[in-house]
Amino acid sequence: MNGSRVLVLNSGSSSVKYQLLDMADGARLSSGLVERIGEGPVADHTAALKQVAEELTDQGLGLDSPELAAIGHRVVHGGTRFTEPALITDEVVEEIEKLVPLAPLHNPANVTGIKVARALRPDLPQVAVFDTAFHSTMPESAARYAIDTGTADRFGVRRYGFHGTSHAYVSRATAKLLGKDVAELNTIVLHLGNGASASAVRGGVCVDTSMGLTPLEGLVMGTRSGDIDPAAIFHLSRVGGMSTDEIDTLLNKRSGLIGLCGDNDMREIGRRMAEGDEAAQLAFDIYIHRLRKYVGAYTAVLGRLDAIAFTAGVGENSAAVREAALRDLPAFGIEVDAVRNAVRGSAARLISAGSSRVAVAVVPTDEELEIASQTFDLVSD
Ligand code: AMP
Repeated sequence: MNGSRVLVLNSGSSSVKYQLLDMADGARLSSGLVERIGEGPVADHTAALKQVAEELTDQGLGLDSPELAAIGHRVVHGGTRFTEPALITDEVVEEIEKLVPLAPLHNPANVTGIKVARALRPDLPQVAVFDTAFHSTMPESAARYAIDTGTADRFGVRRYGFHGTSHAYVSRATAKLLGKDVAELNTIVLHLGNGASASAVRGGVCVDTSMGLTPLEGLVMGTRSGDIDPAAIFHLSRVGGMSTDEIDTLLNKRSGLIGLCGDNDMREIGRRMAEGDEAAQLAFDIYIHRLRKYVGAYTAVLGRLDAIAFTAGVGENSAAVREAALRDLPAFGIEVDAVRNAVRGSAARLISAGSSRVAVAVVPTDEELEIASQTFDLVSD
């Protein structure tokens, strides 16, 4: 292998996001997004990836460049089969296709992206990096639901977790910020974006995470309910007469912040709260209540907590969420410094008080860099 560049592709159902990184110095050489696949000029994923290839060629960074070492693909669901990044072969593509029932919205688009990219550069190593992989180290006590084991195993019903590349990256970046070896550090990572998840990371190894079989479980999110009594679904079906698809849409698209107050953007919720809007205030309070429960639970799971890291759109930008999430927790050794918390910036930074036993940090996530590093590591071996 000669080159040091990695193209990262994130193929969604209606869009393809890409970034070209140079792993020699971590430079981001190009990035872009092809949207509205299937509507108008971009007929399908083949057309979308051809457009990506053309955009790169126009910048003198074409797919045929000898500098390009590999392509890294984000794949949402790796099931129990993929616990690490995988060099893509025909067999790997088949295995990812077999996981479609577990991720019907995501894996088909991921597979299509892989197939088209392989057709464009059949000779180039390509790597699948799975959103679930970082969580595969969870012990069975955290990964299993307490349901009939035979049924669970037959249908793959267990907790897989998602946002794994972000939790992996942020837990390591937190150790770096603190000047510690990740193996020494017990960390709670709070990935708070439109989707949101928490993880408990012991010495760099994930021991629990809040998303489960699907990304629906856990924290209150922009449009997802997070944890809910599963019997609510039976009730909505039997008493409400709703179909499975209607309930799926309700819980994934019309719940969480948007379901509670009509807005899923934390900035807008903050503006409305400042005007005394009660629905926005209640949505915020429910969001924070759930978040605090996970902080408490994961503190107990870890036993000794060294650091809490906030990341993603809300975690990186909302001082109000960070303050409310960790308010009045000196008994846990957690003290946020109001002045540090109010500082805005794009770099990883500490926001805990000098007297806080637990370090609290804002650590911007970089899933593309993580996918590129994992891809490059695999093909450089
Ligand atoms: P992500 O999914 O990580 O891109 O996060 C998107 C979410 O971050 C948006 O829906 C907003 O709720 C939130 N967000 C982005 N910028 C800000 C900000 N300046 N203050 C508060 N929340 C923000």
